[in-house]
Amino acid sequence: MQMNERMAAALNAQVTSELSASLTYLQMATYFDAESRPGMTHWMYHQSDEEAEHARAFIDHIVARGGRVAIGAIVAPPSNFDGPVNVFEASLERERSVTAEIRDLYEIAIETGDLESLPFLHTFLAEQVEEEAMVETILDRLRRVEGSEVGFALIDSELATRKEEA
Ligand code: MG
Repeated sequence: MQMNERMAAALNAQVTSELSASLTYLQMATYFDAESRPGMTHWMYHQSDEEAEHARAFIDHIVARGGRVAIGAIVAPPSNFDGPVNVFEASLERERSVTAEIRDLYEIAIETGDLESLPFLHTFLAEQVEEEAMVETILDRLRRVEGSEVGFALIDSELATRKEEA
């Protein structure tokens, strides 16, 4: 069964949102690179790639359902940051807003009877629980060591070990 227009538009908006998140993390990666924090740079590039994959998953879902994809305008991401805590706070804020978007999509799917989108959206609801928890943990640890270069360096070296599948 084909999606109705409201659902198709909402899924399209999510493609744009995921691409925007990818650019946000790309920008954060360049900040950390310039600040000589290789682990955080690696983590942010990885996160950026993951968001681009999310966009692609939404694109594939739309096309599989017989819909058309139209990528929307993307606002330039913030580029001024004030240290690792500040960046990861912005990251958590971003993830929370994505969670709200996915929850809205889920409700629109139910309202429009788009049952076929529910299993797809389930994976993203679960993904967002993981994303928020992961960023919250990093942020808690960064806050605990704030002001200590040794502490930041330790966390930086741990974030360097993030693997492709994580
Ligand atoms: Mg995402």
